[in-house]
Order: sequence, then C-alpha cells, then structure tokens
Amino acid sequence: MALLTEDSAVAKVAGPKAAALLTKNKGLRTVGDLLEFVPRSYVSTRTLTDMSALKEGQAILVVAQVRSARTMPMKRNPRQKMLMATLTDGHRELDLTFFKAWGHEHKLVPGAVGIFVGAVSRFRDRWQLTHPEYDILGRSEDGWEVELEGSGGGRLEAYRDHAIPVYSETGTVSSLKIRGMVEVALDSVEDVREPLTEDIRRRRRLLGRREALERVHRPRVDDDPEEGIDRLRYDEAFVLQAILAQRRKSIEALEATARVPRPGGLLAAFDERLPFELTAGQQEVGAVLATELARSRPMHRLLQGEVGSGKTVVALRAMLAVVDAGGQAALLAPTEVLAAQHHRSITTMLGDLAEGGLLGGSTIGTRVALLTGSQSSAARRRALNDTVTGDAGLVVGTHALIQEKVAFHDLALVVVDEQHRFGVEQRDALREKGSTPPHLLVMTATPIPRTVAMTVFGDMETSTLRELPKGRSPISTHVVEVSKPAWVQRTWERIAEEVGKGYQAYVVCPKIGDPEEAGTPGGASARPVGTLAETDPEPDLELEPTDGDSEGPPRELTGVYAMLERLRAEPALAGLRLEVLHGRLDPDTKEATMRAFAAGDIDVLVSTTVIEVGVDVPNASVMVVMDADRFGISQLHQLRGRVGRGSAPGLCLLLSEVEEGSSARERLDAVAATTDGFVLARRDLELRREGDVLGARQSGRGSSVRFLRMGNPGDEQVIADARDDAVALVAADPTLAEHPDLAARVTARLDEDQAAYLERG
Ligand code: ADP
Ligand code: MG
Repeated sequence: MALLTEDSAVAKVAGPKAAALLTKNKGLRTVGDLLEFVPRSYVSTRTLTDMSALKEGQAILVVAQVRSARTMPMKRNPRQKMLMATLTDGHRELDLTFFKAWGHEHKLVPGAVGIFVGAVSRFRDRWQLTHPEYDILGRSEDGWEVELEGSGGGRLEAYRDHAIPVYSETGTVSSLKIRGMVEVALDSVEDVREPLTEDIRRRRRLLGRREALERVHRPRVDDDPEEGIDRLRYDEAFVLQAILAQRRKSIEALEATARVPRPGGLLAAFDERLPFELTAGQQEVGAVLATELARSRPMHRLLQGEVGSGKTVVALRAMLAVVDAGGQAALLAPTEVLAAQHHRSITTMLGDLAEGGLLGGSTIGTRVALLTGSQSSAARRRALNDTVTGDAGLVVGTHALIQEKVAFHDLALVVVDEQHRFGVEQRDALREKGSTPPHLLVMTATPIPRTVAMTVFGDMETSTLRELPKGRSPISTHVVEVSKPAWVQRTWERIAEEVGKGYQAYVVCPKIGDPEEAGTPGGASARPVGTLAETDPEPDLELEPTDGDSEGPPRELTGVYAMLERLRAEPALAGLRLEVLHGRLDPDTKEATMRAFAAGDIDVLVSTTVIEVGVDVPNASVMVVMDADRFGISQLHQLRGRVGRGSAPGLCLLLSEVEEGSSARERLDAVAATTDGFVLARRDLELRREGDVLGARQSGRGSSVRFLRMGNPGDEQVIADARDDAVALVAADPTLAEHPDLAARVTARLDEDQAAYLERG
C-alpha cells in the first residue's frame, strides 16, 4: 500500500462504496477524519465476552470461542453445504448459521477464538447469528487464557490483552470493517501531524498525537483510551484557538478611521429627548463603545443582553456618535418585520432629528433609510440614493443591505442585530462596503456561555447588559398539555381575559399553512407558497432541531391559517379582532399589520416565528405557543420575551402534546422554570448531548466540533488552556512558519469549514 497522509481521501482505505457512506453519514472525508472517528466502546480480548444479557435484534460484537462446527447438505440443493457452528463464552451458547459453508469451514473449527459481529435473533429457544461477520484471532484448546501462554506469536499473540474497538456502524459498513480500515490507516500514515510543541505537551500532560491515536484505536486492556481522547480534544480546541488568535491579530493590524463626534450634535440632542434614563449597564457599554469608535483600530465587539434589556438604544447612540463624526452607520436585521420595526422606532425616537435636509427638520439632523428585498423600486431607489450621497446617516435593512448595488458615502459602523441569524460571511460582506474598515457591533439576546464565547466569538470582545430597565414585569410560563381539553379551553379564556383588561395577545404557530384553510379572503395578500420573492431568511422554516426525539408518529403541525380559523370559531374569543402575520405576506401587509398591532387595533396576532426577534409591543401581555415542543429552548425564550415588556405581568402558555419524561418535555419544563437566559443557555447545552453548538447558524461556520462538549465544565477549562497556549504561540510565530504541522491543521480546518459552508448553499 502506498503511503498515505492524513489528507488522503478516506476512499484510499475504505474503497469507494464504503467511503461514500462514511462521508455521507459520518462526515468522514479524509484518512485524518477516519483516525479521529473514535470507537463507541471496547470489548476486552482478555476474556471471552459475557453473553448473558443478549436481546432480540441487538447488534453485538463479542469475543467468543467456537465450541463445535459441522457442515451439512442443504435440503433443496444437496450439492451446497451449509455450516452450523456454536460459540461459547464459557457458559452460554450462541449458534452461527452460514447458508454457504464455503470459505468458512477451515476457519470456524472447534477451539478457534474470534470477534463476531451481527444482530442476534431467537430461533427455537436458542440465540443465533446468521451470516455474521467475524475475524478469527487464533486458536485455543481449553479456553482462551490457557492457550495464550504457549501459542507463540501469530495474530492471537498480537491481540493478546488488546481491547477491540467497537465503532458506530453505518449501512453495510460494520464496526469490524471500520476497524480494518482504521488499522490500515494507522499502519500506513507514517507521519501523523503533531501540532503541539513538546513544551505544551509536557505542561498539559498530553500524549503525543500518534500515541493518542494508537491509544484510542488499539488500546491494551489496561490502557485508558480516554487519555487518547483527551489529547484529541485538546487538539481540536488548540487548532480553533490558533485560528482565532490569528484572526484577532489580523483585525488588530487593520487601520480604521477614528470617529470622534463633534460636541453638541445629534447624540446630545437625542439624549435630551430620551423619555427614560439609561440603565447603569447601558451607560457603561455606551462609554466603552464611544472610546473604541474614537480609536483608529476597528472595534470588533459583541453585545449580549437579555431579551428586552435595551440593546437597541445602546446601538443607536453609537450610530448617532459616528454620524456626529461625519460617517454613516448601517443596522442589519434578520427579518423584514424587524428591519421595518427598527426603522419605525428609530425614526420615531429621533423625531425631527430624522428629517435632515427636509423643510422644518433639525439643522443637525440626518435621515434614516430603509432597505429591504421587496420594497417598491421607487422607495428602493430613494433609499439607495440617500445611502450613497450620505444624506442618510443611518441605514437600516435586511440582507438587501449586503447586495452589490448598495454603496455608502462613508460607512463607519456596522451593527448586526440578533447575530445568530447571520453568518460570518454576511457580516464581512457588509463591512467591505466601508472605504476604511468600519467598526463592528454585533448584538445578541441569546446568552452565550463562556465556552461558546471563547470559541465561536473568540475573535471579539464582549460586553453584557445584565439588568433590565426598571419597571419591567415578570413573565410566568406554563406548559399546557393538549390532551387535557379543559386546560386548552382555559388558555383561550386567559387570552379573552387579558384582552378584556385592554391588553393584547400573540398566538405563535410553527408553520404558515394554507390560506384556504382560513376559508376567508383574509389571506388574500398571502403569496402562495413557492413563489417567495423576498430575500429574507424565512424564519418560519428555521425551527431548531428537536434533538432527535421523534417519539411517536409525525404530527401535523399547527399552521397560522388553520389556527386563525379555529380561534374565530372559539366562543370565548367571540368579537375579538384577530389577524395573521408571517414571512410570506407582502411587505406592505406585514408593515400594516405590525403597525395596527402596535396601535392596539388588533387584539390577537396569530403569527409564525417572524415575531421571534426584537418585536416590541409593550401592551402585549399574553403569548400562546402552539406545538411548543417543536421549538428550541433559546427560541422559546426569545419568543416569550415579546410579552412582559410593559406594565402588565407577562403570561406565556406552551401548548404541547409531548409526554412527561421525554426530552422535549424537559426543554419545555426548563423554559417554564426560569426566565434567566444564562441559566437556560446552560441547560440548553446540557440537553443537547451531541449538540452542534458551533453549528452553521450559530457561528456561520459549517462544521461542528467533534470532541468538545460546550456544556461541559471540564471542556471549558480545556478551551481556556488551549487559548492561552495558542495566543502565546501565535504571538511568537504569527504566520505559523515554524509550526508547519499546526499550520497544516489550521488550513485543513478552514477548508473543511468552507466546504461545509458552500455545501449548505
Ligand atoms: P432588546 O435588548 O431585546 O433588543 P429593546 O432594545 O427592544 O430590547 O428594548 C426594549 C424596550 O425597552 C424598548 O421599548 C425600549 O425603548 C425600552 N428601553 C430601553 N432602555 C430603557 C431604559 N433604560 N428604561 C426604560 N425603557 C427602556
Ligand atoms: Mg432587539
């Protein structure tokens, strides 16, 4: 076999068919990926495997001995022989059946000891394996231990005291086959890359990488494979941190324009008009932003703050400061609904300050442009023009902002709201519109645990708004089981009661559904599904994964239109003003509906998750979420943040069919138990056992982590250690010229991310 490297295609050791399966189902593309594919468990070869707890249909891998074997002619075709053998673990028996004895006869002889893999079934009160895969390790007359003493070499000796790795199988690629491939890979990759220096390895007490891989795939019975995995986990953290350290360095090296605002400008005038006092946190973060904007190095900052903590005002004040310094600021929002709301509320808050250049407008004023994918071409032309001339100091928009046609006069600051909806690429695309690198402020209401902050956002400084503005009302949350009609009935009555007190309600559904279901032309402005014109991401289709608990048959999810119909027929809600909102309505209808809801002209808004982010109507006091189990923890937390924004206490009712004890139910109970976003973020990480925390949506990165568990406190320490080591190494060798193995792994990781990103489209 020709020598392989870690970059060789996995097909080199697996063959094309198995390689395709491994790539598709396990994400293994290269030999290096295969080497990082760690076993699920191990079977000891020191003793025969205990077969006392077999279960019908169970996939097993056992080390066992052939007790007896015989061949006999097939009844139908006497020229063909079948082979029956019996295995033993010293106590219990397991039958093997091969319908063709050929090729097996000379291997499956009494005394042979091997690894046997297959699914067990019950036949005439005996356990059996039909056509198992197997690998004979050696022979022994009187049991395993005895024979080994004098067996003198051969494969049996090679396996003496080794543990057999059990890999997660896929399709026809059995654990045994994977083991064979890994062995070939281990034996033919001569130079395993060693990204860690001797010094780091010693200080962190880590195995060498080659040794770690041997430990993971070919441990001896007394070895602890975990030590190998510890090393691989550290590598993963270290390579990520090296990438981040390099990125931080390159950002630091950029020259930005220092934005020093003139005194007595827009910001001062705006502060004078603010109807409330800024919280201490808002003031603090504001001061940090002002300092960084006035530096000639680009700001690169993440602002996290609980839902409703008032991030928008903080961002707006920074935006006004750069306008006072002669530049422009862009605010990127993930949905049209949110962009329109930002535009509306910024314009309102600024009052005549937003009428720059207009008759009667303030002399220090500016304009606020709105750019979305589906606005009329006249409105769009005006907005584009105000943006390129600089007449609009503030430009609010969706993805439409990123398009090539959009040019700025002097883009000084980019603010990205609700960052989890955007990829790194998108925010970089917007930053490229500055003539000098603009400052960047990214905002999120999804609290970010330290592990994630250190990895996904490791190239940014972070600020946190911890307190909510005074006068906020508590939100109470309850899970409503739809199997209890009286509870559901009570839900509608609660809505009616809140409306009776003058408040408003949201009913959130996981899908849009068919406007025809509403039976009225109320959905006339809805475009049929499939003729989507807007370029916004469709939040309706972006439900978070439900962590694989597809218990029971797939359910029909509640659509907005079906819900509207149902609520209209609900006696408790008779006479209430109901309206729908979702991402596929045309923008004018969306805007009109949001305005009407904000003005109190709609009592109940039946909506998709378009309202999830940022929508701010303080008079809404109750939210009902249909099929709540279909939403993730952070999404539910975001959603319920739409209520409890005013003087009335908020109420959130999570309707669900899921049973007590399921993991979906655990998520709902977690959301009901606390409104502390940081607690929930931790809980979320814990519940997503295999969680793809660094998944595409979170990070804009395509691929995920293999070894690090973001919810694991031990891993937090690993990440912190790796960061210290990587920062020191990159400081001494910024281009990694002296660390070629690390450089190669960095490149491989970036390529992999890029490939995964492109595949996602
Ligand atoms: P989020 O951080 O979730 O984006 P917003 O910026 O939408 O929150 O703010 C929520 C609401 O709180 C808005 O109506 C805003 O005007 C109001 N608000 C912001 N700061 C304060 C404050 N210091 N005092 C009172 N209300 C405030
Ligand atoms: Mg917001």
